[in-house]
Amino acid sequence: MTSDGTRSRESFRALPKAEVHVHLEGCFEPATLETWARQAGVPMPRPRERLLSFDGLADFLEFLDWACGLANTRDRVAETAYGFCRRLAADGTRYADVIINPTHWAPWQGRTRELIDALDAGFAAAEEDELPPVGLCISLLRTQTADEAIDLVEDLVVWRHPRVVALSVDGNEAAAGRTGPRFAEAFRRAAAAGLRRTVHAGESSGPEGVRDAVELLSADRIDHGVRAVEDDRVVALLVERGIPLGICPSSNLSLKLYASMDTHPIERLRQAGVRVSVNTDDPSLLGTNLPAEYELASAAFGWSDEIVRDVARTSIDASFANADVKAQLTSALAGWGS
Ligand SMILES: [Zn+2]
Repeated sequence: MTSDGTRSRESFRALPKAEVHVHLEGCFEPATLETWARQAGVPMPRPRERLLSFDGLADFLEFLDWACGLANTRDRVAETAYGFCRRLAADGTRYADVIINPTHWAPWQGRTRELIDALDAGFAAAEEDELPPVGLCISLLRTQTADEAIDLVEDLVVWRHPRVVALSVDGNEAAAGRTGPRFAEAFRRAAAAGLRRTVHAGESSGPEGVRDAVELLSADRIDHGVRAVEDDRVVALLVERGIPLGICPSSNLSLKLYASMDTHPIERLRQAGVRVSVNTDDPSLLGTNLPAEYELASAAFGWSDEIVRDVARTSIDASFANADVKAQLTSALAGWGS
């Protein structure tokens, strides 16, 4: 710590940690997109400096289609995966479970297996260059049908791709309504086949979405989950089952879920005994990185070194990394102090 009791960004960079809630679609680099657009003869929606300044959700979704549309070759997808690992290394993040949602990747519709192979090639090349290892969480979109969800799971089960660690579901629950019952069968099949489950809930849905994630989708981990705090019984359920939340402070603030960190519930949840980790969600789009997120939460609630280590330990334990990676990270963490 510095003499005024605050920690430097560098000490959070040095903190051994994993990231468990981050979307590959939220990690596109403007410079890369500009190059691809030029090569394809496709116009930029706006200049590079303002490429990630969005005018509402529709504008953001349009950008996502445009960016994923440019990632239309195996090499570009692999380059995106490799760039993601470089970003992890720059943040001092030593392992990540990254979410991709195949519905966004228009050039790869009907070719999800090839998309996964292309991503895998980029992650494997990164690991050879001693960049951090990554597991893939393949995500359903909340607006998909029950049959589409089951089809994806059946494919994942047949492929048993070694890079794929989990089934995920994301998308706007406020727009899609209650979808736990719709996806219950797909998640049941995923669990039966040994796939882990991570579920976006308790952000665009309230605490009832968190309960559905636990009870209907047998979530091993919940992405966001912060609105669980609105119902003591849901908080108790998370504590009793030991289900970790992948919390993204800047993302919640940017969507105005909370006006400031003063009212952000991460500390209330942590003190209630819920396992919480700190994550970026969409770092490129939000202009953030993992050390900055730790700094934000830690400064807001005056976290001691011991609490920071506890949160980082949760990120490691909650990840779907293999036992060797977890053991290495846990032992490195013991030596950290700010
Ligand atoms: Zn997310």
